[in-house]
Amino acid sequence: MTYYNLHTHDLSLSTDRKLSICNLPYKNSFTSPDAYPGVYFSAGIHPWHIASTDPMSLTSQLSRIAESPQLLAIGECGLDKLTDTPIDIQITIFKQQIEIAENSKKPMIIHCVKAFNELIKLRKETAARQEWIIHGFRGKPQLATELIQHGFRISIGHKFNPETARIIPLHRLFLETDDSNIDIETVYRQIAEIRQIPENELIISIGTNFSELFDLSR
Ligand SMILES: [Zn+2]
Repeated sequence: MTYYNLHTHDLSLSTDRKLSICNLPYKNSFTSPDAYPGVYFSAGIHPWHIASTDPMSLTSQLSRIAESPQLLAIGECGLDKLTDTPIDIQITIFKQQIEIAENSKKPMIIHCVKAFNELIKLRKETAARQEWIIHGFRGKPQLATELIQHGFRISIGHKFNPETARIIPLHRLFLETDDSNIDIETVYRQIAEIRQIPENELIISIGTNFSELFDLSR
């Protein structure tokens, strides 16, 4: 049985019993996935980092890295109204990343804070066809339901709204550890408990979701 972790910043996490998508580190440039054989990554420009980096240069690097078989998804990227960068600039950078995801046919791992209306609008406006997964979701059940109706998938970490964790359909759900020290087994245990289902059922469902969205053959 494999524990699948949709999103972590801990590069040491890929072992036999766990399969993790690690967020590829960057500052002025992205670290090369080649430096970490056998590790799966996602790469993207986080809205928090737009002001302190050169997003133009990073997006052009990103379109090259996107072709790597080790790169399973574009992100985390997205929109955050609690950060200083104006939302229209965030949208511009996010749209460039949507285009990269569409061209490379890879799903997106999305960070979204207080900008869900804008996000839903962008999904429609860009007619994006790749899957979009909201990571670290802590919102209320009503918002989760609305997002699911618009075709989004949702990933939950160790901090979540219990009612939301109960109602997300299993085939739309992912689990993650993000930047916490909690291990992924604990997150699985918490969610299985709250949904009152055997942990094995959760492991199998999330595994199926993973193989549906990501090419893990290489
Ligand atoms: Zn993260």
